[in-house]
Amino acid sequence: MAKNSDRHQERPHRHHYDAEMLSVEDARTRILSYFSVLPVEDVELIAALGQVTAEKLVASFDIPPLANSAMDGYAVRAIDTRGASLETPVELPVVGVVAAGQIPERALEAGTAVRIMTGAPVPDYADAVIPFEDTDELERRASGDTGGGISIHLQAETRDNIRGAGEDVEEGQTVLESGHILRAGEIGMIASLGHATIKAVRRPVVAIVSTGDELLQPGDSYQPGKIYNSNAYSIAAMVTRYGGIPRIMGIAHDTVESLEAALENAVDTDMVVTSAGVSKGDYDVVKDVLASKGEIALWSVRMRPAKPLAFGVLERGDGTKVPHLGLPGNPVSAMVAFEQFGRPAIRLMMGKPMTEKPTIEAIMDDPIHNHDGRRVYARVHAYRDENGVYRARSTGNQSSGVLSSMALANGLAICPDDIGMIDAGETARVEMLDWPDDIF
Ligand code: AMP
Ligand code: MG
Repeated sequence: MAKNSDRHQERPHRHHYDAEMLSVEDARTRILSYFSVLPVEDVELIAALGQVTAEKLVASFDIPPLANSAMDGYAVRAIDTRGASLETPVELPVVGVVAAGQIPERALEAGTAVRIMTGAPVPDYADAVIPFEDTDELERRASGDTGGGISIHLQAETRDNIRGAGEDVEEGQTVLESGHILRAGEIGMIASLGHATIKAVRRPVVAIVSTGDELLQPGDSYQPGKIYNSNAYSIAAMVTRYGGIPRIMGIAHDTVESLEAALENAVDTDMVVTSAGVSKGDYDVVKDVLASKGEIALWSVRMRPAKPLAFGVLERGDGTKVPHLGLPGNPVSAMVAFEQFGRPAIRLMMGKPMTEKPTIEAIMDDPIHNHDGRRVYARVHAYRDENGVYRARSTGNQSSGVLSSMALANGLAICPDDIGMIDAGETARVEMLDWPDDIF
């Protein structure tokens, strides 16, 4: 152990990495070239939200399977209600009852009615349902009259309040194509076809390793000079939100062997995300480890925050390889970089299209300054003013370590790299972190 530390001691001044300056788009393109769509699995419907279907779903029966009532009421032959009105009710004998889930015992004879509940199959020859509201049902019930007749106050037309067999989906119909993103409606649809699982592209498992001797785990008692590891949790939350499965691997110390050990634990993962250790400090070991354990590229990305970024392919002891995204350590940098590079990687692995974050144009209440030709992502709160116009105000201190202004932000307002400032009153594009119901 001591020997390895010694080895690390001599290494910091021997880096020969070309720190290229890349645009966000170029960095993203390079990163995405290392990912591919993951294999297909059978997914329980309850867990399938947001996954992409990998089979074509064809209905093997009609939905609904039988013609059934859309109302609680009386199944009749429409012709038997001809001329019925409040003033000239038609009285029919009630010869039976069908509840939801039952099958009618016999066909409806002319001149009779059958009490029927919503969803219950209609008897043969019944071609309309008269809702209770259009009968004297309530009066009879109030007076305790269960004498077997009902007065109908409205003339029915054929098919009134009857849902035909196959009205929703017909047997043989394609309900979902392969490659469809599963939302609540699709998941309900699959359940209605009787399936408990669906073939879908597997979710990526993302290992999250925090590096830094200064880090404490939330829940640990406070120690002077230390800070709590927030990056693992904000990154894990983003992984979950974009459909992946986060696996927090804990904290690695600023030594090569500690980080190597943490990375070795990240078996069976589809991506490894580290935070910190990619800048120029003496103890920034992520780059050293990657240089010895895989391919690495160290980039300067033309963005603020999150300029330093590492990306590589990690080769583990067992010979398997996994893409590694090395985020900067500052909490806001880590988050903004993950939005720009981690989110699309997860989408790609899940088989989803490469859509951008939802973006609006908003009038800035505060200026965004850009003093060194990088694309600035400014933390803002976007809202609609009294005229319905989108505006965005700064959520405070824009330093890359200030997480509170990120916590207050619902969007990132962009000042392009070649523009020195977007002044208050000017319009900026805002990439929405959230799409809150209350402002849209
Ligand atoms: P570094 O990249 O190691 O120089 O870290 C940059 C800054 O980010 C330092 O102020 C670190 O203390 C901070 N930092 C690094 N890792 C974390 C983390 N997991 N959670 C919160 N802050 C961190
Ligand atoms: Mg550090």
